[in-house]
Amino acid sequence: MKYKRILLKLSGESLMGDRQYGIDNKQVLQYAHDIKAVKDKGMEIAVVVGGGNIFRGLSAEKSGMERAQADYMGMLATVINCMALQNALESIGVETRLQSAIKMEQICEPYIRRRAMTHLENGKIVIFGAGTGNPYFTTDTAASLRAIEMKSDVVLKGTRVDGIYTADPEKDPSATRYDEITFQEVYDKGLNVMDMTAITLCQENKLPIIVFDMNKPGNFMKIAEGEPIGTLVK
Ligand code: UDP
Repeated sequence: MKYKRILLKLSGESLMGDRQYGIDNKQVLQYAHDIKAVKDKGMEIAVVVGGGNIFRGLSAEKSGMERAQADYMGMLATVINCMALQNALESIGVETRLQSAIKMEQICEPYIRRRAMTHLENGKIVIFGAGTGNPYFTTDTAASLRAIEMKSDVVLKGTRVDGIYTADPEKDPSATRYDEITFQEVYDKGLNVMDMTAITLCQENKLPIIVFDMNKPGNFMKIAEGEPIGTLVK
């Protein structure tokens, strides 16, 4: 295994599978199997899950809601997704702990950095919910932040595309994929990797990011083994 400890970021939308909204349990179970396979090789895995399949603060603001209120709703949506992933992992015998940046004692632990690290050392999958716990942030930023706090070797951003392209490959067929790119190039070219707060956190803390297609079963293992699929940002 190339890494000892990794942080996996799954967007809310990735949990939708082929649906237009909500959670596709088959898709979530596929992710759970991929995560289990890598964990069984001895890697420590923390996961940050987004909430865009259920609620996004920014979109709600556009339709008239107050932004902070909407963002808190978005954070609650991430916890719903985290619970779905936790359920899928536990259903295949993987021990997990869910920690939320907003206290919800009946359903999960509060986020406690040192406790999360102990869980990882003990081989549990730690799932982080409620983003950073603050409005005006995103779960990409939460992923960078938790990865740094956990001293992860890398942030793996699992998406539905196989890396970062020169342009949107769905709109521009001549777009090509980068194998590797620097943080500076991401800024200069205005590439859509993660939001700028998340990118800056990673750059300042020398934390590499790999963007890859998590929807192909087995890809997560390839990344964990160091196979150069996806795009490495460093
Ligand atoms: N959110 C927030 N603070 C955070 C993380 C998330 O306010 O630290 C809210 C924000 O409204 C966001 C929503 O939660 O739109 C869902 O998160 P995100 O959009 O990052 O999810 P993803 O795009 O990964 O599905």
